Amino acid sequence: MIEMAGNIIPAIATTNAIVAGLCVLQARHVLQNRLDEARIVFISRRPEHAFIAEALKPPNPSCHVCQIVRGELKCDPATTTLEEVCPFQKYLTPV
Ligand SMILES: [Zn+2]
Repeated sequence: MIEMAGNIIPAIATTNAIVAGLCVLQARHVLQNRLDEARIVFISRRPEHAFIAEALKPPNPSCHVCQIVRGELKCDPATTTLEEVCPFQKYLTPV
């Protein structure tokens, strides 16, 4: 059991490092405005392919993750508290 755990932790660290590297490589394409070269990359479970890459897809109009979501807030800034606007702010840790 200890031997298995000893192999899992380096595997997790290695996988995290690989994914971080993939994120940086794809972020370079985006930041250099080369979206045609950017890919959605997945780690494959197949041994013959380490990665699976797909071209970027257009944003899904009904998805709040890949869309720019904007809302309008009307309030009196003199009397409105942050907690009224964002009730979850009390759970945020100040930096
Ligand atoms: Zn989406």
